[in-house]
Amino acid sequence: MDAELLTIGSELTSGATVNTNAAYLARRLAALGIPCRRQISVGDERTGLAEALREALRRCDLLITTGGLGPTFDDITMATIAEVTQHPLRFSPMVAATVRRFYTRRHRQLQRAALRQAYLPQGGAPLPNPLGTAPGLWLRLEEQVVVALPGVPAEMRAIMERHVLPRLKRLGAGGVIESHTLRTAGLVELSIESILRTLRIPECVQIGLYPHLRMVDIRLTAAAPSRQAARRALSRIERPLRRALGMSVYGTGEDTLEGVVGELLVKRRRTIAVAESCTGGLVCDRLTNVPGSSRYIKGGLVAYHNEVKRQHLDVSDAMLARFGAVSAPVARKMAEGVRRLADADVGLAITGIAGPTGGTAKKPVGLVYLALADPRNTLTRRCQFFGDRLSIKTQAAQTALDFLRRSLLSSSRNQ
Ligand code: ATP
Ligand code: MG
Repeated sequence: MDAELLTIGSELTSGATVNTNAAYLARRLAALGIPCRRQISVGDERTGLAEALREALRRCDLLITTGGLGPTFDDITMATIAEVTQHPLRFSPMVAATVRRFYTRRHRQLQRAALRQAYLPQGGAPLPNPLGTAPGLWLRLEEQVVVALPGVPAEMRAIMERHVLPRLKRLGAGGVIESHTLRTAGLVELSIESILRTLRIPECVQIGLYPHLRMVDIRLTAAAPSRQAARRALSRIERPLRRALGMSVYGTGEDTLEGVVGELLVKRRRTIAVAESCTGGLVCDRLTNVPGSSRYIKGGLVAYHNEVKRQHLDVSDAMLARFGAVSAPVARKMAEGVRRLADADVGLAITGIAGPTGGTAKKPVGLVYLALADPRNTLTRRCQFFGDRLSIKTQAAQTALDFLRRSLLSSSRNQ
């Protein structure tokens, strides 16, 4: 089976919106072993859309579109698919009822136009939208499948995960595809590749690396005649891979670093406080994104100005003069200071130069010191990051969370 993507919206062709839908869809298809041969974007205009649909259907087995499903006049996807595939629009009372419910629940007056969304090409199955009113469409033609999804990225993803991927898996004619993701922090893509080269990878397993800032996801996909065989193949590679990667694997699937750190803090019965300089609160932001984090987060202090470091964290003038604000001794003081200030078990501190100005030969942009204080001792770490200001802040926050995770893991091993 091969696929094409048709992303619809004048905001895409004009460059006002970055086409993240296409990237996401291509990745999800690849994980199922379905190659995406082509990606096309067209504006919200009937003739161009019809032409693009016709062309794509001459080539591919699976066509996925996004955008143009809403109730407004420029939402023409369903009508154009109906015209091109010669499956005329039919009113679906079921979808209409869902649209009405959506409005009633929100105590909003139903707009007549909203019911336009209840018309789908004949023979097509509506794919329920858990986040909005516009349903998706699954339309089987003789030898092809057309899928239409909303443009709003979160709605598109929700329908894809819940309704499209399971259907595509079932289509996979007899065979099954299983996949599993290992999430790593602190390793670069190249070192993971060299580890992979030392391992024997079962023939039916494909491995994809998906790097983010200071993190790499490793996606293992096995295609086999049965679910059991696919799972066996996956665990044959996962076990040695985990052994080789050690502590760098922080989780699987949809696990997040902040979620994993939170679980470790709960397990170790530790509370935490954070003093942030160059990250300006990013670490606290991420930690507090986890539901239930009030169990272990005491608080945080954005100690951006030296005056605040001095007043609240016991960083002395002499120390600032001698080592500078971006230094291991100051990071150490900040971690110990915030730990005391918030009466927490663990204090985490970040101080660095996010740039683009403020760097020197000795202390270049991207230099960051981390410190972690617990009742027994204080660890510090020097890091050098590269990139623009936001990227350096993100990398610093990411590495600080990973530093905390690794230290919690080792302390649980020692006790
Ligand atoms: P709605 O029900 O909201 O009208 P729709 O299916 O008509 O949904 P659009 O109006 O085309 O969707 O797009 C809605 C939003 O989603 C817009 O803010 C748009 O910028 C964004 N969007 C659309 N297509 C993409 C894409 N390919 N990648 C990223 N964002 C997109
Ligand atoms: Mg649109």
